[in-house]
Amino acid sequence: MQIHRLPALSDNYIFLLYFPNTGEAAVVDPAEAEPVLNYLATLGARLISILNTHHHRDHVGGNLALLQRFPDAIVYGGARDEGRIPGQQKFLSEGDRVVLGDREAQVIFVPGHTQAHIAYYFPPTIPNDAGDLFCGDTLFSGGCGRLLEGTPTQMVQSLNKLRSLPDSTNVWCAHEYTLKNLQFALSVDSDNLALQSRYQQVLNQRQLRQATVPSRLEIEKQINPFLRWDDPAIQSAMNTQDPIQAFARLRGKKDMW
Ligand code: ZN
Ligand code: FE
Repeated sequence: MQIHRLPALSDNYIFLLYFPNTGEAAVVDPAEAEPVLNYLATLGARLISILNTHHHRDHVGGNLALLQRFPDAIVYGGARDEGRIPGQQKFLSEGDRVVLGDREAQVIFVPGHTQAHIAYYFPPTIPNDAGDLFCGDTLFSGGCGRLLEGTPTQMVQSLNKLRSLPDSTNVWCAHEYTLKNLQFALSVDSDNLALQSRYQQVLNQRQLRQATVPSRLEIEKQINPFLRWDDPAIQSAMNTQDPIQAFARLRGKKDMW
């Protein structure tokens, strides 16, 4: 399975999953149809599946136009997004599987940003290889999604599921928010050496207009304050030893930042 990253709108990424052996492709969170249609044409690929993580316009905006061109494509989304995702035919819950070519995605229910948000995790097919996580607006490099429909407790539970995946996992976030996220992270965790060096790296990448996605889970666990509600450094910066409260205060601070 090849993964192609297509920039869309102002700072979204659409991910095209391409199976060269069969000429089939799937798309994750098509913010808009045009870049996907153009890329499919370049590859000579046929779209068979649309995988949505949640109902926001910048993740499903291309669904109907893609269905017009590929009427047989199947639209997947979270069970609780029924009625909110255009063209949705499959309603997925925690532990469901989506078979695509020779790969299989595991569905992880990750409410918090929205009540219905799901993530798609493709475990490695070869031992010691890296898996791929498509996490929508739940986990960003250096940050996490805003709690528009969920509570801090829900989001911590959701992020804890993602944090428990193998360290080598590639983290395919739906937005290029990394630089701003790391600037905020440094404001609460300035002594973190791993964070400082990742910031320098990202600063250079962005000056060259390079994408910072995918990240790796191992890196996120070191630098992302929103994965470290149980880390004494974050708890002391947030003036609490309660993990949920540390996370809630951190999220609140970022909302105001
Ligand atoms: Zn969203
Ligand atoms: Fe989004």
